[in-house]
Amino acid sequence: MLEICAIASGSNGNCYYIGNKNDAILIDAGISRKKILERMEKKGLDPKKIRAIIISHEHTDHMRGVRVLAKNIDVPVFMTPDSWKNSWGPNRPDKVSYFSPGDVLEIGSFKIHSFLKNHDAAEPCSFRLEYKGKNVGVFTDIGSVCDNVKSHFAECQAVFLESNYDEEMLWKGTYPIHLKERVASDYGHLSNMQAYELLREFKHPKLKMVFLSHLSQENNSPEIAMKTFKALANELIINVTNRYDAGDVFEL
Ligand SMILES: [Zn+2]
Ligand SMILES: [Zn+2]
Repeated sequence: MLEICAIASGSNGNCYYIGNKNDAILIDAGISRKKILERMEKKGLDPKKIRAIIISHEHTDHMRGVRVLAKNIDVPVFMTPDSWKNSWGPNRPDKVSYFSPGDVLEIGSFKIHSFLKNHDAAEPCSFRLEYKGKNVGVFTDIGSVCDNVKSHFAECQAVFLESNYDEEMLWKGTYPIHLKERVASDYGHLSNMQAYELLREFKHPKLKMVFLSHLSQENNSPEIAMKTFKALANELIINVTNRYDAGDVFEL
């Protein structure tokens, strides 16, 4: 059995927990060590099971807590060399294990498939975590849906899927134009509608759960995101992740 939990998700911090009886993996550590451990404790998730922290890319909302957390719980941090080189110095872990996009990492009882995605970072990756035939995707920070995303999506029973912004809120909102264009570009973020289209077009019988992730604070709301996906709500478990607290622990 797998346990899946968004410890934090949103444009100001991301951390995703996928674990089984013995091992757990954190994807990203974009909030403080203190908050990650507090939220895990509240949900009954044991940090001693964490075997590795894997960093998707160098943006601070994915790395803010990694250095302190890795040192504190003494686990390896995996990231690509270019993500490391382009990360902000104070966020960098003291020790790092490198991987290249496309590598399959075997950590504890997990196989972690990494792949390149479209995002304005040096070497941005997403991941599919595999354990005993079950697959969980962590697909956030994606400007456009590439073939890599589609092919890994096809394997997943559960996905954390970016649903960053509502198009109307973004274009009518207060962001300066260059930032609006960046968010909406093919190397920015997925809108609610783009995420919905991906689901509608490529959902498959194995897929059970979708966690709408990495919501923008300014340009989205949980209610608006959920509304976009209403048409699929009786076929799939659809949940919105939370920036202020860990979400429920789902079993797969
Ligand atoms: Zn990013
Ligand atoms: Zn991000």
